[in-house]
Amino acid sequence: MKDDGRPACGLTQEELALLAHEIRGALTVVMGMTEIVKRDLPAAERQVALDGVCRAAERIDRLIDDAMAGRVDRPGMEREVLDLAEVVAQVAAEQRAVSGRTVTVDARVHPLVAGSREALERAIANLVENGLKYSLSSSSVDVSVETREGYAVVVVADRGPGIPVQEHARIFEPFERLEGSEAPGTGLGLTVVRSVMESHGGSIGVDDRPGGGSVFELLLPLA
Ligand code: ADP
Repeated sequence: MKDDGRPACGLTQEELALLAHEIRGALTVVMGMTEIVKRDLPAAERQVALDGVCRAAERIDRLIDDAMAGRVDRPGMEREVLDLAEVVAQVAAEQRAVSGRTVTVDARVHPLVAGSREALERAIANLVENGLKYSLSSSSVDVSVETREGYAVVVVADRGPGIPVQEHARIFEPFERLEGSEAPGTGLGLTVVRSVMESHGGSIGVDDRPGGGSVFELLLPLA
């Protein structure tokens, strides 16, 4: 347990129960569709049922992946002094390679922070992945590194639909997704990011981006 009572995976008992509920829901679909497939069906209907099984299996996979991502934040994790600009450059290069999209980096400073490289990389990658996932493929995700009053700041900005101000708190809660979010997701990513920030003495915030889109900011104490 960390000091705030969250277990090592970043989910509380209640959140784990929610995770089990989500996985069980997807498994119910798998079992139901499998029963249907066993029947003598026209090929088109069989295909619909098989597609349903695949989608539910993918959802279970994502749920487990996202829940396990919280484990990068486990207590006793090795902490080192890191150049945050270098960590950001690494994450951006990986995200460019995986997505084929434009991820710009503006890092004129090289702030040092104490932390787990794995956990911080995961947190920054989550934000970049979301920026890419919720925006058109023609738009870029723009990342910058700054310093501000004793903190290193990572800013991740996209040109997606933006997030209504009344939803700014809710999106950090586990399994919460905004209505109309079509891209695949579990609603766990930002919970993990927040948990990583808290265990590093930092914080996360979100705002509207002037001209459209969202801006997420990670604040980490300077080492
Ligand atoms: P996931 O992306 O797996 O659903 P997250 O916890 O990362 O889960 O995000 C929670 C919700 O917040 C998303 O489902 C989406 O509705 C919204 N969201 C997150 N990031 C963005 C973004 N960059 N632009 C628009 N909406 C976003």
